[in-house]
Amino acid sequence: MKRIDFLKSIALLPLAGFAMQLNKIKSISDSFESTAKMPVLFVGHGSPMNAIEQNEFTAGWQTAIRSLPKPNAILCISAHWETKGTFVTAMEKPQTIHDFGGFPQALFDVQYPAPGNPDLAGQTRNMVTKTSVGLDEKWGLDHGAWSVIKVMYPGADIPVIQMSLDYTHDPRYHYELAKELVSLREKGVLIIGSGNMVHNLRMIDWRNQDQGFDWAQEANSKFKKLISAGDHEKLINYGSLGREVELSVPSPEHYLPLLYALSLKSQDEDVTFFNDKTVMGSLSMTSVRIG
Ligand code: ZN
Repeated sequence: MKRIDFLKSIALLPLAGFAMQLNKIKSISDSFESTAKMPVLFVGHGSPMNAIEQNEFTAGWQTAIRSLPKPNAILCISAHWETKGTFVTAMEKPQTIHDFGGFPQALFDVQYPAPGNPDLAGQTRNMVTKTSVGLDEKWGLDHGAWSVIKVMYPGADIPVIQMSLDYTHDPRYHYELAKELVSLREKGVLIIGSGNMVHNLRMIDWRNQDQGFDWAQEANSKFKKLISAGDHEKLINYGSLGREVELSVPSPEHYLPLLYALSLKSQDEDVTFFNDKTVMGSLSMTSVRIG
């Protein structure tokens, strides 16, 4: 090769790399074209048995998604993935994680083979400026995600990624971080926060399957009123909402997914509730649709 040709080919190399990058970016945006704004859900997931039972709550989940456009993908923020730092799952094939004990074998046999979406994981990482989001290759789908999404989309044909909860930060941090995900709503991504507004496992009353304690019902009503009024400040500062809320949120992980969902609401959007019920004394299944 003549020296001049050699220099030319060297000069073209970065361009070739750039073109490849452009192609990659194009393929990402092609798979997630702009869509109408996708509603956001907060889902009370309750017992993992909901994954294999047909009951009023699973019926509620199925009804809730019937009026949604079919998502291009799902991003789930589950109570059951807490990490130091924030991560998104970035594998092609997330495993079904059976992160519980003492349930029938039938529940351990459940597989939910929805694909992941590494492109979406990368996009999600890039849109967050508040922290450096890590790409995770080891997690998969925990029961906070699959026990709900399997009931909603049994065909497992919609890619699902998860985002973890960074346990080192306060509620406001989570609320603000979630705001940075808002553009995903216009890419046909269904964002689901999966937890329980009222969740006190130590106080579960197994004989009281169908009802919550007075304090659980009061907390549930209080949360709903504040959500309807759009008073997110009070919901972020839930520590000062009184004794019934203290009992309802003894640890933050089942409550924080609600803040992720609420922070994605724009002023003009409607909020509706479904599965609005307290059960087993100290759990509420109350779920929220935004938009
Ligand atoms: Zn849970």
